[in-house]
Amino acid sequence: MTTRAYNFCAGPAALPQEVLEQAQAELLDWQGRGLSVMEMSHRSDEFVQIAQTAEQDLRDLLQVPDNYKVLFVQGGASQQFAQIPLNFMPEGGSADYVDTGIWSRKSADEAAHFGRVNIAASAKELDYFAIPGQNEWKLDPNAAYVHYATNETIGGLQFDWIPQTGDIPLVADMSSDILSRPVDVSKFGMIYAGAQKNIGPSGLVVVIVREDLLGRARSSCPTMLNYQVAADNGSMYNTPASFSWYLSGLVFKWLKEQGGVAAMARLNEEKQRKLYDYIDSSELYDNPVSRSGRSWMNIPFRLASDKLDKPFLAGAEERRLLNLKGHRSVGGMRASIYNAVPMAAVDALIDYMKEFEKEQG
Ligand SMILES: *Cc1c(COP(=O)(O)O)cnc(C)c1O
Repeated sequence: MTTRAYNFCAGPAALPQEVLEQAQAELLDWQGRGLSVMEMSHRSDEFVQIAQTAEQDLRDLLQVPDNYKVLFVQGGASQQFAQIPLNFMPEGGSADYVDTGIWSRKSADEAAHFGRVNIAASAKELDYFAIPGQNEWKLDPNAAYVHYATNETIGGLQFDWIPQTGDIPLVADMSSDILSRPVDVSKFGMIYAGAQKNIGPSGLVVVIVREDLLGRARSSCPTMLNYQVAADNGSMYNTPASFSWYLSGLVFKWLKEQGGVAAMARLNEEKQRKLYDYIDSSELYDNPVSRSGRSWMNIPFRLASDKLDKPFLAGAEERRLLNLKGHRSVGGMRASIYNAVPMAAVDALIDYMKEFEKEQG
């Protein structure tokens, strides 16, 4: 009998129960070695095997081409906001940023500490409910790179297309939608993702970077932030977030058992479709995002009156539907339905939403 609730948290987010059970079973004694992964030397054969298996499984899942390095680094996705310009933007250089919401704006603001930031496109005029088409973007041919966020976790605005940037490297923050559906990695110079949405524990960041982009860091770039250093040292220049790396590896194995990213995409498509269909059909709930920009992972919705937020959340808690409160910057509700959130959770949420709507008359 499970005591676990359905968790709709945006992050740190739900993890697959099977993964947590395996970690629990291995916590005191990993595979007969008499110690936990947390207590192992990161230089030991055991941990190196855990680390390499995790990397290979991730490569398999995303079909990462051989000319890309996969790094497991620390500091959260937010640290990447500084690391990207330090590594790719030369002194006195510039970069293009696409503003589709809070996370892409934060990344642009951080990059502005290091050089000129050109906002090549902004969803502001569209109230962040839709993504401006690429024909409206003003890309700078001299930009060091183009940065965007594939999924805005707070606004629930997601790209369903990949920007074309020619020879200019495309850098993508995929923190909240990596591994949720197939992606052609070869279209990107770099992909990064904080682990705590769709991979594993917080603090860890997965970086997938094309090899020819390494070795361009500014001389002022701290050693710990230099991708080349991380790549040369197998992401072990210093002690890595070893337990988070291990747990992420368990998630990658779980994803493979589920049928990989294509199978997750089929499931995620159905999950989001059920929830949006219900929201659209109801009188009480509303999601304002344009159809083509709607996120499969984070579904914000408002009730007809803010006064209903509290009773809605209280009833949800009673039914063990947790963390539905929207981000403090936008209010309302948000259901995050990452890979590890099962269809049963979405069904239970819709059942509750229907019941609550009926009660309101
Ligand atoms: C959560 C999130 C971040 C920030 O991640 P941290 O690990 O907390 O720094 C950045 N970008 C996106 C798209 C996110 O969802």
